[in-house]
Amino acid sequence: MYQSFIGLEVHIHLLTKTKVFCGCRSAFGDEPNTNVCPVCMGYPGVLPTLNLEAMRMGCMVAKALNCRIPEKTWFERKQYFYPDMTKNYQISQFASPLGQGGCLELAGLGADGKQINKKVRIKECHLEEDAGKMIHTGTVSLLDYNRAGVSLLEIVTEPDMETGEEAELFIQQLRRMVRYLGVCDGNMEEGSLRADANVSINLPGKGLGKKVEIKNLNSSRFVRLGLNYEIRRQGEVLDGGKTVVQETRLWNENRDETFPMRQKENAQDYRYFPEPDLPVFCPDEAFLASVDSAMVELPAARLKRLADEYALTGEQAGLICDEKASADYFEAAVAAAVAGPEETPSKTDAAARIAKWFLSDIKHILHRDSHADLDSFPLSPTRLASLVLMQVQGKLTGKLAKQTLELVISENKDPKAIVQAHNWEQITDPAAIAATARKIIAQEETTVNELQNLESENKKRRKTLFAYLVGKVIAATEGRADPGIAGEQIERLLAEIRNLK
Ligand code: ADP
Ligand code: ZN
Ligand code: MG
Repeated sequence: MYQSFIGLEVHIHLLTKTKVFCGCRSAFGDEPNTNVCPVCMGYPGVLPTLNLEAMRMGCMVAKALNCRIPEKTWFERKQYFYPDMTKNYQISQFASPLGQGGCLELAGLGADGKQINKKVRIKECHLEEDAGKMIHTGTVSLLDYNRAGVSLLEIVTEPDMETGEEAELFIQQLRRMVRYLGVCDGNMEEGSLRADANVSINLPGKGLGKKVEIKNLNSSRFVRLGLNYEIRRQGEVLDGGKTVVQETRLWNENRDETFPMRQKENAQDYRYFPEPDLPVFCPDEAFLASVDSAMVELPAARLKRLADEYALTGEQAGLICDEKASADYFEAAVAAAVAGPEETPSKTDAAARIAKWFLSDIKHILHRDSHADLDSFPLSPTRLASLVLMQVQGKLTGKLAKQTLELVISENKDPKAIVQAHNWEQITDPAAIAATARKIIAQEETTVNELQNLESENKKRRKTLFAYLVGKVIAATEGRADPGIAGEQIERLLAEIRNLK
């Protein structure tokens, strides 16, 4: 058996309005070559200027990854030729990345169902510009420079992971983290988050092996599949008495295998030298304070707090904290449910009910109607709280609560207004329910007779007949009778008849 070493280089597009060194718009999907200017096209004599927002977002990620932000950070030119980069060099960071020496705790289930707990060291985070995009169509290649100069943050790990599953979880956690921070949309298909995976294997105790880099991994699943394939392939190479070639390979998603692309350049081939047109950046107190104030509670901390504070199961907390928006929604709904002047449930009771609504009916509706974001969802947290309160206070049956929910969505109205307009308020007055129950018992003579004459051990049949009668009472009130009270009244009336006999 071999020991494997995996290190990731993850690139994320920062959600700055403009590019990193010029004022061009930074957006995905615009008409090709419309967001370009002499600076990002690298015309001679132009001067780049640093986008402070990009630096601030980069430092937020660095902090979230427990990195140290140095007192001075600067940029280098990384020289290479590529048609999608008109300058023939990329402005990047080499000697003084904006984030240094951090870590990310992996904690969660791998795709194989096994629990993963591991600390992955972060080597660095550095800010750079993206290149343009080449689109290959048949015999010609097209170039779109809208992406050239877009703010890119590269996050480099130490080779601390050992399996494709761990690397996949790393990407998933990092993606959730940058989405929480609001600095990247994490869309891997659109290329807002891209990963290159480095992997080597060796005999245990022998340290790192010859590394292979896999590029072109545009989903976290491909990261896992590509790495596990490569670990197997390298094992077979070593088993055959050969040595692994240090190279860059690509993932072929149709054949589920990697294939060679090029033999890797060394760092010295890039001839890095300090970018002469950009001053050294020294983060001052005001800048660092602006980074601090933009930080949010991170996913791992939030998950733990929600599970503790609201007595949720780990699974519930995990699903709710998957997105910051849903965790915010959940907490706002619970707060609204326990805030009212009327009779309110305890915090954990409200949380249990809201979690149940959120993870079943609401999730289903969000998916069905493809509501883009919870901010514009007609069932606001306050409306959900009011729906839950009506149930807690015995004013709405579960079934009518679901119907109310659908109308809140389709009519964009308050649940209380809907319940009033449809006269759906639950009937809890025992006398009123008894009157209906009496009518039903008179109508359903056969059922009542069978029920009265049943052998006492025939519990199953008894239950069925009883439920039938209760159902009739509820139907007669158009679903408004409290099912518990309806049951009690039927029970009481049946006993009355028995005693008369
Ligand atoms: P390069 O100069 O080729 O870009 P780096 O030292 O910058 O190499 O490392 C790039 C990535 O590769 C990092 O994530 C690092 O952890 C990983 N890495 C480096 N050496 C190895 C190795 N021998 N096996 C596996 N991963 C490695
Ligand atoms: Zn520009
Ligand atoms: Mg490198």
